[in-house]
Amino acid sequence: MYENVDIEKVSPMMQHYLQTKNEYKDCVLFYRLGDFYELFFDDAKTVSKELELTLTGKACGLEERAPMCGVPFHSVDTYLTRLVSKGYKVAICEQTEDPKQAKGIVKRDVTRIVTPGTNLNMQALEETRNNYLMCIFYDSECIGISVADVTTGDYYLTEVSTIKEACDEIGKYMPSELICNEAFTFSGVSTDDIKNRLGVYINPLDARYYDEEDCKKALITHFKVKSLIGLGLDDFGNGIVAAGALLRYLIDMQKTEIANITHIYPYLTSKYMLLDSSTRRNLELVETMRDKQKRGTLLWVLDKTKTAMGARTLRSFVEQPLIEKEDILLRQGAVEKLVKNVVTREEIREYLNPVYDLERLMSKIVFKTANPRDLLAFRNSIRMIPAIKTSLIDVKDDSELASLEERLDPLRDIYDLIDMAIVEEPPLTIKESGIIKDGFDKDIDTFREAGTNGKSWLAQLEDEEKEKTGIKNLKIKYSNVFGYSFEVTNSFKDKVPDYFIRKQTLTNCERYTTPKLKELEDTILNAQDKLNNLEYEMFCKIRDSIALEIDRIQETAKALALLDVYASLAYVAEKNHYVKPSINEKGVFNIKNGRHPVVELMLDSSDMFISNDTYLDNKKHCISIITGPNMAGKSTYMRQTALISLMMQIGSFVPAEKADICVVDRIFTRVGASDDLGSGQSTFMVEMNEVANILRNATPNSLLILDEIGRGTSTYDGLAIAWAVTEHISNRKILGAKTLFATHYHELTELEGKMDNVNNYCIAVKENGDDIVFLRKIVKGGADKSYGIQVAKLAGVPDMVIDRAKEIVAELTDNDITGKVQSIAKDNKSDKKVKVKHYDDVDMDQMSLFDTVTDEDVLKRLQEIDITTLTPMDALNTLYKLQSDL
Ligand code: ADP
Repeated sequence: MYENVDIEKVSPMMQHYLQTKNEYKDCVLFYRLGDFYELFFDDAKTVSKELELTLTGKACGLEERAPMCGVPFHSVDTYLTRLVSKGYKVAICEQTEDPKQAKGIVKRDVTRIVTPGTNLNMQALEETRNNYLMCIFYDSECIGISVADVTTGDYYLTEVSTIKEACDEIGKYMPSELICNEAFTFSGVSTDDIKNRLGVYINPLDARYYDEEDCKKALITHFKVKSLIGLGLDDFGNGIVAAGALLRYLIDMQKTEIANITHIYPYLTSKYMLLDSSTRRNLELVETMRDKQKRGTLLWVLDKTKTAMGARTLRSFVEQPLIEKEDILLRQGAVEKLVKNVVTREEIREYLNPVYDLERLMSKIVFKTANPRDLLAFRNSIRMIPAIKTSLIDVKDDSELASLEERLDPLRDIYDLIDMAIVEEPPLTIKESGIIKDGFDKDIDTFREAGTNGKSWLAQLEDEEKEKTGIKNLKIKYSNVFGYSFEVTNSFKDKVPDYFIRKQTLTNCERYTTPKLKELEDTILNAQDKLNNLEYEMFCKIRDSIALEIDRIQETAKALALLDVYASLAYVAEKNHYVKPSINEKGVFNIKNGRHPVVELMLDSSDMFISNDTYLDNKKHCISIITGPNMAGKSTYMRQTALISLMMQIGSFVPAEKADICVVDRIFTRVGASDDLGSGQSTFMVEMNEVANILRNATPNSLLILDEIGRGTSTYDGLAIAWAVTEHISNRKILGAKTLFATHYHELTELEGKMDNVNNYCIAVKENGDDIVFLRKIVKGGADKSYGIQVAKLAGVPDMVIDRAKEIVAELTDNDITGKVQSIAKDNKSDKKVKVKHYDDVDMDQMSLFDTVTDEDVLKRLQEIDITTLTPMDALNTLYKLQSDL
């Protein structure tokens, strides 16, 4: 609508507004007018709706008033953040000269543009996670990816070759904004999916951003190097373009250098465990599937960090587990040391308590938005560093902790500077005086004294001159027009010395000034103004001098963050009784009494988590087929195995009695029916996409967690697919990956006999007449019943329906598809199938993975019955129960 306005007709201010809006067409324009940022025309209409602001109008020379709404300047950040989080790009047009000095309309210019990935408003951002901006430069040969967080200075780049891998990187970083070249949006990727599923705001950028030479130049200039080789980027191609485009975009948005980005870290995706976004979701690593909360996730369990930097680093550990054994051992060593040295660890954790977010404080310092209180927070944080260094001396025989100790710079000079310069309770804004301590700067002291001591200085001067001149009634007087002057009554006229300069003549007296008095007058009258300015300048000088030390500070911040993470992992390991896993290179997973790290903490206090063993290898124990009724604990068991493996690879201890595990290159999960209505795909299609992805990308070193395959289609098709998938995975010539496969198709247990590396397990249940009790213990063998009706009963389905269901089951049993399936597996050795027996009052400790079920417990119960106290009815019931349990 603003495009149709006749620019000749509108007021000069509105002309300028329209010109500016024209330059920033893709942005919502916040236009500074006095104490408000105003929005006009369509912007006003949109934003008033989005932010629930009152829409008014402004006369601007047109027939109709221009629609207008506004926000007060002092609270602009909150509005900005709300708007930006809805995906808007906001340009801020500031007054760039003091309105008091302006001749004509005040000069205004756009000083920054705020987008989701470039928002510097730290208060609005989540402390414990990065706010990433990601840039993708796609061509069919290679996809360059770069990621940066402008609030912390983190900056990475990598290259991948497929869209799938690019999406995995998006899922890993979960950027709040993704910029890309047009080609990426036509590459077959579903931008809607990225937007809707991951909540990532996508912004295709003009091709000029991706000019290779300009991108290289931008990087070389920014890092002040002669060539990209110096940055370790010589092996990269499109990655450099992505990194350069990202940097140029950041500079364009902030309209200044991005001085807190001091390093760029190239990485290879193959250096980390590959996790696709559905696996991340399924394993609930950093947010729960249902309500996207942290509570109930692996990160929630592991994160006992004390600082925001530590929390972010731990999150990145969880998001990208390692795959190099040496790297894992390095972390494990540090964690182990801090598990064993409890006193040192707790000391360090205590010292970390008051440490603020140095990385984000540093960004504020660099972007000149830090206020005096931020500097004090900074000082209070670095005050702890010497103590932390001292604590680390006790654990210095660990190489990782020793290197952290070395990386910690006590930053004593910066501490002293802030401590000497800034008062303890400074004002909130930097334009007020009272920031700089007395004694730090002579000029500031003078002006401050002038304010408070002005009167006594005047009295002192009055006395001095009285004595010097002998004018007994000499007085210093003040008038609004003439300022300060010596007043001499006519009777003392002849005593006036020649250095007195006449200012004013009154009826019976004359008023004079002297150079000294003039100086005092200037000092006193300008003191407040000058003081404000001087303090402001001094504060900026101090802030800028800290900004110059960014390298040392960032290095120290990173070391503190790592230390915080190790201490947190060690604390959690001790508190939750984890053990240090050993790492084998034989491809074996041998977990004794493993537990699910999250479920064990979420259970009611009345419930106890039942631990279970896992044994998988690439030989005879490649695939475990797990059967058992719904709710028995199948998926908990499978996820616990995946999480233990992942925890090991981030360097953590694991919830088990003992664990000897190999490194896996990827974990794949196919869990539940995650029907994604938003994506427009059916449950079955989503499921099959996931299966296809697994079968195409898994390697013999991957861990596969398959929870139900083929349920979204007819029973025959579903079973056939599940069957074929299992055959495919178990075939060592094709894949042979370690797999846990939970299924409702009991028929699949037939595979145990057919393939030498497939084994059946089930989760034991206790049957009690019509009821079942879950024992949660995994045992060898396949379940022979599904207990669907019992579980339905447990869930509260009405008796009438339950009874009818039983009738139907009875009718159907004769037509069971099992027989048909058995005929497919003609040559199987199904007679080996272990019949599952059900327990009552079993000694759980004695049940292990390799137990087969016996009826001894029934006999034991028989022996234990006290017949003397049994009523006839009880006796009958007990007999009935025992019989049914046999
Ligand atoms: P399934 O996949 O067989 O349907 P789940 O794994 O979802 O069953 O388990 C259902 C519930 O049972 C879990 O939410 C948890 O509360 C409980 N549970 C599962 N495994 C255990 C265990 N080993 N010890 C204690 N409770 C468990």
